Amino acid sequence: MDDCLFCKIVAKEIPARVVREDETVLAFEDIRPQAPVHILIIPKEHFASLDDAGEDKEAILGRLLLAAAAVAREKGLARTGYRVVINTGPDSGQEVFHTHVHLLGGRKMRWPPG
Ligand code: AMP
Ligand code: ZN
Repeated sequence: MDDCLFCKIVAKEIPARVVREDETVLAFEDIRPQAPVHILIIPKEHFASLDDAGEDKEAILGRLLLAAAAVAREKGLARTGYRVVINTGPDSGQEVFHTHVHLLGGRKMRWPPG
């Protein structure tokens, strides 16, 4: 997608602090962290939101969650815990319409979220 911020990060046209990369997934630090650890995990392939994900996205959605867990372990969050969030659509506050998983940790989280 020509005009997508996260596609530009995948293409290395916009810089990011990458913490993990493989053939299908990229993980990088959120530019406005909401917790001591705040990493975004995205598919390299563009699709706008979870609502746009059909059956063909089963494998990549699994890889996103496994990558989030792997990054959480690398960041030392496995014992204390962490939160994984996929904002989807207007009520969620989704701002970037390239599917992404937020990994948040390093502080006590509140529930319910705001
Ligand atoms: P969402 O509200 O779920 O769409 O989240 C989008 C996230 O992308 C926000 O947490 C932003 O801080 C983050 N973000 C926006 N631009 C960049 C960027 N250039 N590099 C890293 N994170 C970004
Ligand atoms: Zn994109």
